[in-house]
Amino acid sequence: MQVRFIKTAVLSRDWPEVGPAEVAMVGRSNAGKSSLINAMCGTKTAKVSSTPGKTRALNFFDVNGKYRLVDMPGYGYAARSGNELKSWQQMIENYLTTRSSLVGLVLVMDIRRKWTEDEQMILQLLQQISCPLLVAMTKSDKVGGNEKRQRVKDLKTLLGIDGVIAVSNTKRQGSELVEDYLFKSWVQDFQPISPYSEEEE
Ligand code: GDP
Repeated sequence: MQVRFIKTAVLSRDWPEVGPAEVAMVGRSNAGKSSLINAMCGTKTAKVSSTPGKTRALNFFDVNGKYRLVDMPGYGYAARSGNELKSWQQMIENYLTTRSSLVGLVLVMDIRRKWTEDEQMILQLLQQISCPLLVAMTKSDKVGGNEKRQRVKDLKTLLGIDGVIAVSNTKRQGSELVEDYLFKSWVQDFQPISPYSEEEE
């Protein structure tokens, strides 16, 4: 995979022009989102954050000149203040609800954690805009094989979706399945949007 960093942006006027399909990635701070992006890309593209919740903006990456990954800042970090949480929510909601080239969202969560209100909030947002979800359950190396299978199965049942994949970034397991899934299910058939046609509408 050839991955190129495009830009960092908060406000919609600073986002890159619409064009190729965009896959958003979101997760609680420290869930392993940057590690997953790096594992998928085979490079240190997304700097693995040493300070949880450090990044505050959307990071756009081009993948193989075919689609974009949009790395969203982590949520649910205890040190976040009320105001920060609000601006995080606004930025995420603004992107998810207005971006016409958004084809799906990958939610990255530690396989040992429970599905909480934070995840539920994201799910509801996705349902409102009919955006498909894939859950990457990271750190699967931290649990045994049976527990891993059970947790994947339970979440599939809870959410009523097939898109739940166990991932170990340290053991390099599962990241290629995530890439394969999002490409085949969401990206492959997407017709890139011409920025001009959007302005005309
Ligand atoms: P982010 O805040 O979601 O971007 O999380 P990072 O990718 O920075 O990862 C947070 C920490 O979890 C780092 O110390 C990683 O090395 C570790 N980590 C990430 N993925 C895995 C995994 O699959 N297994 C294990 N054991 N550790 C992981």
